[in-house]
Amino acid sequence: MPNYTLSDDIFEAAARRFPTPFYLYDERGIRQAAQAVQAAFAWNKGFHQYYAVKALPTPAILKLMLDEGCGLDCSSMTELLLAQKVGAKGADIMFSANAMPAEELRFAQELDATINLDDISDVDRLIDHGGVPDMICLRVNPGKFGAQRKSVMGSSLDAKFGMLPTQLLPALEQLKAHGATAFGLHAMTDSNALDISYYINNARYLFELGAGLEKQSGLKLALINLSGGIGIPYRPEDKPADLAAISSGIIQEYERVFTGRDDVRLVTELGRYITGPSGWLVARAIHKKAIWRDYVGLDASAADLIRPAMYGAYHHISVVGKRNAPHDRVYDVTGALCENNDKFAIQRSLPQIDIGDILLLHDAGAHAHAMGYQYNGRLRSAEVLYTTDGEFKLIRRAETPEDYFQTMVFD
Ligand SMILES: *Cc1c(COP(=O)(O)O)cnc(C)c1O
Repeated sequence: MPNYTLSDDIFEAAARRFPTPFYLYDERGIRQAAQAVQAAFAWNKGFHQYYAVKALPTPAILKLMLDEGCGLDCSSMTELLLAQKVGAKGADIMFSANAMPAEELRFAQELDATINLDDISDVDRLIDHGGVPDMICLRVNPGKFGAQRKSVMGSSLDAKFGMLPTQLLPALEQLKAHGATAFGLHAMTDSNALDISYYINNARYLFELGAGLEKQSGLKLALINLSGGIGIPYRPEDKPADLAAISSGIIQEYERVFTGRDDVRLVTELGRYITGPSGWLVARAIHKKAIWRDYVGLDASAADLIRPAMYGAYHHISVVGKRNAPHDRVYDVTGALCENNDKFAIQRSLPQIDIGDILLLHDAGAHAHAMGYQYNGRLRSAEVLYTTDGEFKLIRRAETPEDYFQTMVFD
């Protein structure tokens, strides 16, 4: 079930204050999700959730995460700089990149971030750029033992991420020879998984592999990084992922594989699960046309929210003030880009939509504004936080043509 926690009055009030389109985020929902994850894994001594910065790289949101005691998971130099700017310290930062540039590795080292290496060739790069830290995390691609769902991630066998299981031991031996004393293991082979078995299977795989490698390498297994990938219910028929069931499945595996131990720290890098449901793209119907189909044109476009155009992703749409009206019309809901995939919904049952109506694209709190682009000179929209005090706070202004021209060389 898509998220309806904020009432239509709140969206109407926001749309009186800020010109559409804009994103609205609910601080309470975001904090509650971060707290729920920490509570679910509180049984693990040293558990830490690192918010995946790429999901919503806005300072106010990242500060909320730090305030909740979470860290930040970064994947590029700029994300590292952003983490630094919002006050994250070494222990707050996890750094995972693939096709990892050497200078980014070096900078992550300077920040004292936990480094998660994507490929065996990165070991040499690390030795040459910043040196080997005491503890290092390795990302594994489990191949046929990973999730095979043809999702955004690809199936494990055609996913570009991680190293072969057989490359882990040679990598660890090389790291050990350069002074490492401990290691961690990471895998992420699905995304937006609502089925709890994905996360539990991933944990089991990493626990067993890690325990074996600890014996073989003589390095201490310090950390298992379960990564991100827990899904959210985008569609009306979807049920939320059961965090308590995920956690208890993982406890069982932990106790079976690490009997009598409590020194293997678990970490998560959830993005979507934390902020996804607590964001809405708020747009207005500015155009209607009736040709072979009925179209409603919004003042937002795929430049604001590309997921439907890019992945055919479903985002639930509601019309402010018409939540309970009969859904007796069928529309394609579009943006203004000169691309026919600029459709937020195709043949969607909705109430009668009139020009000026405010439409909400639900569950747009992760991988949404962040993936915005500027095609057709359509600029990225503002972001507003609805605070726990009931205030609206502008946390990113809308881009202007001057921003767009800024990088261009005119003469
Ligand atoms: C994208 C990503 C995440 C976050 O994924 P969600 O689906 O938002 O939970 C975490 N870790 C890594 C390495 C990622 O690439």
